[in-house]
Amino acid sequence: MSTETTAPDAAAAEVKIRAIGLKKSFGDLEVLKGLDVDVHSGEVVCVIGPSGSGKSTFLRCLNKLEDITGGTVVVDGFDLTDPKVNLDSVRQHIGMVFQHFNLFPHMSVIENVMLAPVETKKSDKSKARENAVRLLAQVGLADKENAKPAQLSGGQKQRVAIARALAMDPDIMLFDEATSALDPEMVGEVLQVLRDLAKGGMTMVVVTHEMGFAREVSDRVIFMAEGYIVEEGSPDDLFGNPQHERTKDFLDKVL
Ligand code: ADP
Ligand code: MG
Repeated sequence: MSTETTAPDAAAAEVKIRAIGLKKSFGDLEVLKGLDVDVHSGEVVCVIGPSGSGKSTFLRCLNKLEDITGGTVVVDGFDLTDPKVNLDSVRQHIGMVFQHFNLFPHMSVIENVMLAPVETKKSDKSKARENAVRLLAQVGLADKENAKPAQLSGGQKQRVAIARALAMDPDIMLFDEATSALDPEMVGEVLQVLRDLAKGGMTMVVVTHEMGFAREVSDRVIFMAEGYIVEEGSPDDLFGNPQHERTKDFLDKVL
């Protein structure tokens, strides 16, 4: 390939998510105090930090589940604070998985996974079913298609929730403490699904208390405290050589 026509690292450098001076207040309480974050295509960014530091609020601002008070968030080139931007179409590219799975209890597993693509008319029913079968196999639940959520373990429910988010064919996945509500023996099977997604090149922002996972899987770790990004870096740097007292204190408590 001719070198003149190739921009340096252009493909690797594609920015999927850019937060610029992001602020969020609830009434008088300023929860995010100006965050600057870039997430590149295919990157896995883990967000760690003490409870109440604003991690969930940050994640929720990335698909504008929260109104943004100051600064901006740009996803795939769309400025979420621009009133002309169609939020629904931006959100269709972003899958989100929460601590609590929120599956529809009266629907079977496969119906839960098919629902959003059918309701949003992203695909017809037979296509949606085909895709759901594939996704359930991907998360290791091929045999649970017709089960009801109540018949599943917590780890299985969370894997259904991940398949459901993937059914909209997102190119960004946000995880907010996806394993925090699980019994310890089920954490591994869910983290394995995240690991596989990361290997497949999914762009991911993962709020987690699983420091081993963050260290092993992420390309970059962000440490947040009190509404600020205190420090960010490669997992080896952040865990192995933290620069700030606040980071050291936190890691001393959790490691
Ligand atoms: P984390 O996920 O790091 O534990 P959160 O983003 O959930 O932190 O919360 C950060 C702060 O914002 C906390 O003080 C929390 O009480 C407050 N907060 C979060 N959501 C709301 C809300 N909807 N209304 C008022 N305060 C909120
Ligand atoms: Mg949280």
